[in-house]
Amino acid sequence: MSVKRHPTKFLREEYLALAEQDLDWKLKTVEGPSKPITVVEGKEVLLLCSNNYLGLATHPKLIEAAIEAAKEYGVGSGAVRAISGTMSLHMELERRLARWKRAEAALTYPTGFMVNSGLIPQLVDKGDLIVSEELNHGSIIDGCRLSRADRVIYRHTDMEHLAQVLDEAERHKPPYRRILIITDGVFSMDGDIAPLDEIVKLAEEHGAMVYVDDAHGEGVLGEGGRGIVSHFHLNHDQVHVDMGTFSKAYGTVGGHICGSEDLIRFAWNKSRTWLLSSSLPPPVVAATIAAIDVLETEPWHVRNLWKNTNYFRKAVQDLGFNTGRSQTPIIPIIVGESSKAKKLSEKLYERGIYVTPIVYPMVARDQARIRIQMHAQLTQEDLDRVIEALEEIGRELEII
Ligand code: PMP
Repeated sequence: MSVKRHPTKFLREEYLALAEQDLDWKLKTVEGPSKPITVVEGKEVLLLCSNNYLGLATHPKLIEAAIEAAKEYGVGSGAVRAISGTMSLHMELERRLARWKRAEAALTYPTGFMVNSGLIPQLVDKGDLIVSEELNHGSIIDGCRLSRADRVIYRHTDMEHLAQVLDEAERHKPPYRRILIITDGVFSMDGDIAPLDEIVKLAEEHGAMVYVDDAHGEGVLGEGGRGIVSHFHLNHDQVHVDMGTFSKAYGTVGGHICGSEDLIRFAWNKSRTWLLSSSLPPPVVAATIAAIDVLETEPWHVRNLWKNTNYFRKAVQDLGFNTGRSQTPIIPIIVGESSKAKKLSEKLYERGIYVTPIVYPMVARDQARIRIQMHAQLTQEDLDRVIEALEEIGRELEII
């Protein structure tokens, strides 16, 4: 006789356990487009928590390109890349992306998560070492977990610690076959920038590969928004895997890597998430090509993003808010306790400003915050409205 068990009871129990601790996700529905002013659950709000930094998700050139591609090629690719899902549009996007990023070659994946989860375990295996930054994105963490390589975490942006870890790795017996250093470019909860130039130097001393996740650096950092490799004046002989996603500043969706021809051929023959998952739909690919066009020909989007970022961050710092280590359009306002972050977010929402709280387990228990993501199309008037609301609510909640 088998044990009497209820096959799905855990579903409710585990959800309720999260809900009891207020750790469950409460979804808010955005009823308009992802624009600086939109409608969330019937209420017009200023949207301050979107990755659509430059507003390209609703740029007329991208919309037009998507419509035209849907008419010409349809709305789905019909297959994985290796069967019949490589359309001329995918090839064009990869050529354009490589040229834009000044890399030898590029490859697109269905999502950024799928790059990290599908490529990392192919780059390193048993007998290899992954040296991973403490605050890396969850998709990198999952990618590392799927690999059989040894793993060491180095402390956040701590180059002495990284050097020490690499020195110790040299003494490992038998010697490691490969070493992979992997880091976010811009850290998504704090908005600070990885010291990629120093990482590259250490990697060169130890013969290690460098892999950067530039999800929040593209369209933001570097010449014209080319990303972190350009920001530090590096090249793809030094940063071997330059990974990113079109789901942030490019305004569409889809993961990608840029690097050498060798990397690209290796990746497409080996990543299971590339080989076994259908390719991006034609309207998305065409819109992404248009996004690169816009970045190349309309430099004011990136300029506006930085103008807004610098103005807003200084104003909230002057009010006494703690913006942590922010150096980019990701601007956290760190308040400490989860309940305070939630209150701040609720009160802002009441005043028509939508920004979600970020609490444990996404950040440490005493580091709860709201995370503002700046937008190129917010006006000075919009920003002043947010600053005024923050000042009043901040005093009321005794944050400042
Ligand atoms: N890396 C980082 C740093 C991210 O912020 C994200 C998106 N949340 C991803 C990877 C995953 O990208 P995608 O949304 O394309 O799956």
